[in-house]
Amino acid sequence: MNQHRSVCNGRWWRTCGWAARGVIVSVRPGFRERGRCGICRRRCPGYDNGDGRRSWRALDLGSTFCFLEADAPRVNCRRHDVVVAAVPWARHDSRFTRVFEDQVAWLACRCSKTAVSELMRVAWRSVRGILERVADEARRNVDLLDGLKRIGIDEISHRKGQRYLTIVVNHHTGRLVWAGAGRDRKTVLAFFDALGEERCKQTELVSCDMASWIAGPVAERCPGAVRCVDPFHVIQFATDALDQVRREVWNEARRQGNMELARDLKGARFAVSKNPENLTDRQQAKLAEIQKTNGPLYPAYLLKEQLRQIYRVSAKQAEQLLEQWLAWARRSRLPSFVKLARTITAQRNGILSAVTNGLSNARIEQMNTQIRLLARQAFGFQSPRRLIALAMLKLAGLCPPLPR
Ligand SMILES: [Zn+2]
Repeated sequence: MNQHRSVCNGRWWRTCGWAARGVIVSVRPGFRERGRCGICRRRCPGYDNGDGRRSWRALDLGSTFCFLEADAPRVNCRRHDVVVAAVPWARHDSRFTRVFEDQVAWLACRCSKTAVSELMRVAWRSVRGILERVADEARRNVDLLDGLKRIGIDEISHRKGQRYLTIVVNHHTGRLVWAGAGRDRKTVLAFFDALGEERCKQTELVSCDMASWIAGPVAERCPGAVRCVDPFHVIQFATDALDQVRREVWNEARRQGNMELARDLKGARFAVSKNPENLTDRQQAKLAEIQKTNGPLYPAYLLKEQLRQIYRVSAKQAEQLLEQWLAWARRSRLPSFVKLARTITAQRNGILSAVTNGLSNARIEQMNTQIRLLARQAFGFQSPRRLIALAMLKLAGLCPPLPR
């Protein structure tokens, strides 16, 4: 049982030289808490004395380090074989007391990496382990998937687009309820497995983007649920199509040697892609210029803006508006918009369901931003597992309260 040996015993702290500078409190579990398996906490027969005395780092006494020291016998669990016996003051496999870990987790949800490790006088490496343990325990104790009716599934990239997470948000509470590494069918199916067959049937609405790796499993596992296409992704597609038109016009201008126009168009990127209400004066002037020169760029801009309108009107009007938009886009002779019209025709029901159900995408977008922020906060997460642990603590409401 190597994994249990690697855990700190009394000698470990001494070799660090810390125990020499702190208070050591000798403790032992109460009668009812003795002889329990460290993993499942079931009562089981004793095995041996393990590695003898062991110590746990506790919350500091002012500026003095404090350690709890106790015997760490091993027990023979029917399910987990030979394991170190549970102690009430610490989580299994940890060198820190429960309250110490809770405080670290609480701080990590609120402060920077350096603040946490300097204040708690603990290596960042240890903080990562603590976060995982605290998050794992909270996920075991709290069922976030209970009573889930309206959910949003989305992907986010962290670590510069190299790695992806699939996240699931509860539309009622706006909270994160599940996160898994990867963006593929398998990951989505893993979520539905966690949700279970019964609760899949009770799901009323699933919002997601137009990707088939999400839509496929949703249709298979929740056939009764209404599938909505997130407004954010629809607008994103339109913005991409618009950008493609801008690039084509720009390339054409350069081919014809019209360098002035080419320069103008290069600067027009933000003027056309931003929402008109957020434009600066200069960008507004740029837009007016585009309207005057009236290449294919201006109609493309209007197409994008018109598509945004469907999310601002009633469901009935939205349906008409979308029909008109599709007809216009098909006739536009702008290849990227003709293609978009085809995609949107295929996803028409999902897009209109989002309008009918008054689905705002704001929550998923917000969640997206927050997770990306977490990943960027110099937390140095090499593995998605740790990012997920922190995201669950911070965004799913699993963070323990400060110990009292
Ligand atoms: Zn056990």
